Amino acid sequence: MRELDRKHREWISARFGRGVRFGAPLSRYTTLGIGGPAAALVHPLGTEDLAALVIFARDNALPLLVLGKGSNLLVRDSGFPGIVVSLARGFSQCAVLGEQNGRILVEAGAGVSLMRLCRLAAKEGLGGLAFAAGIPGSAGGALMMNAGALGGSMSDVVESMALLGPDGRKEEIPASEARWSYRRMETPARFAGSEGRYTVILSARFSLTPGNAGEIARETERLLALRRLRQPRGGKSAGCFFKNLPDGTSAGALIDKAGFRGRRLGGAMVSQKHANFLVNAGGATARDVLALAEEIRAAVRGRFGVELEAEVKTVGAP
Ligand SMILES: Cc1cc2nc3c(=O)[nH]c(=O)nc-3n(C[C@H](O)[C@H](O)[C@H](O)COP(=O)(O)OP(=O)(O)OC[C@H]3O[C@@H](n4cnc5c(N)ncnc54)[C@H](O)[C@@H]3O)c2cc1C
Repeated sequence: MRELDRKHREWISARFGRGVRFGAPLSRYTTLGIGGPAAALVHPLGTEDLAALVIFARDNALPLLVLGKGSNLLVRDSGFPGIVVSLARGFSQCAVLGEQNGRILVEAGAGVSLMRLCRLAAKEGLGGLAFAAGIPGSAGGALMMNAGALGGSMSDVVESMALLGPDGRKEEIPASEARWSYRRMETPARFAGSEGRYTVILSARFSLTPGNAGEIARETERLLALRRLRQPRGGKSAGCFFKNLPDGTSAGALIDKAGFRGRRLGGAMVSQKHANFLVNAGGATARDVLALAEEIRAAVRGRFGVELEAEVKTVGAP
């Protein structure tokens, strides 16, 4: 891990006090349980502090990583050589706002877990989010990834997002201004470019359909049960490692046909239950996971002539 300069550490300590840890092991903050230390892990409690941190990181050319629940991240063994910012503490408000054109708006901070959002929707009798039940991410991470399952995705329900730009300014944008595709969201060009990595989702509004609370709760449970049937339970993973192909072909099916189900490399293993889940079977390093992923990619390329693209984001210095 590259340590931060003393002047950088001093500024961060002075501003965030107990809300910062230097050298925090990121393995504790990712569902794979893998990852070296963060040069600094910061928990801002509000937008003003977060904006100051983003401007500081940008002005000092320090890499910035926004951490949600860490459920789609593979952090390299060398750790993250910059500032990791967690929105888990200060950005976890969640509330029903009211009716708009026959639909109900719900607002959630970026740090709210999808499960909490789904439970709130079910309790209030609001439909549209059941697909997300069981996806172990935060609202911010799920929007960034356009997470989805069982026919639904975040782009179906998001109405608007509050973004913090690299200049530290907050702006509310309609969801239609972002570009949404399979497991990907791109913010409008004014947020992107070389500084895109300094853009943070602060919160979002979701447009949900009023319905019957009992029925919505049952539908949520049904989809959760379906998920349990198809995906490995417990264990450490980041969900599907590769994206399905643009024509819809399942990456898991290709990996399975290539003979990788149950294949182990060091502590990394292809799940027996779902061949697109690469799991930490015990003591896996990022190097193990990446080497196994590379073997899979080469085998699938050789056998089927297609290139698998990672869905999981790998971060940190190689
Ligand atoms: C068991 C399991 C099952 C899963 N099933 C599914 C599934 O069915 N469908 C699916 O789509 N995914 C699934 N996933 C993957 C993962 O849960 C989703 O991609 C989730 O939305 C990621 O959210 P997160 O908060 O964990 O994001 P993280 O993993 O913390 O971050 C993901 C990316 O988003 C960025 N990010 C996070 N928050 C913000 C923010 N506020 N502002 C800007 N950028 C941000 C991060 O920098 C990173 O690039 C699964 C994962 C696991 C472990």
